[in-house]
Amino acid sequence: MAKKIKVGFFSFTCCEGCMISFIEILNEKYFDWTKKIDIQYLRALKKVKPIRPMDIAFVEGAISTQSEIRKLKLIRKNATKLVALGSGAINGWPSNLRNDFNDVKKKEIAELIKKLNQIETVSPIKKFVKIDDEIPGCPIDQKLFIKKMEGYLNA
Ligand code: SF4
Repeated sequence: MAKKIKVGFFSFTCCEGCMISFIEILNEKYFDWTKKIDIQYLRALKKVKPIRPMDIAFVEGAISTQSEIRKLKLIRKNATKLVALGSGAINGWPSNLRNDFNDVKKKEIAELIKKLNQIETVSPIKKFVKIDDEIPGCPIDQKLFIKKMEGYLNA
């Protein structure tokens, strides 16, 4: 039997809607994909464990803290392929809306930003690491995700 590919799903600053979309996709694809993929990381389904080498990391959400930057770099280091999932990871939206607040609004949220250890601006993941592919949408386009995943499995 062919070796399963190791995949991980990781969430940063976002609503985690792309991960929910992936779980919805499993309603259709679970029995087929479970023979081919080994899900190592997916907070909604599995116990969190230290990050180890994997074939594909799927990342949703934008980056808003120093600890997220460190974790993202660790994921990049351990992933042969890194795929950005959804608009938050690809271009920062909608998590980055606060970047364009006016001065009054920025002052209003300043205390909260400090309390949550957030950095000044919210950014897409490619500001910090190289990405190998992306699946757009908010949430992701499910048909496109299936097509991409089957492409990775048959590569
Ligand atoms: S891209 Fe949209 S749906 Fe996906 S995690 Fe970000 S905010 Fe949620």
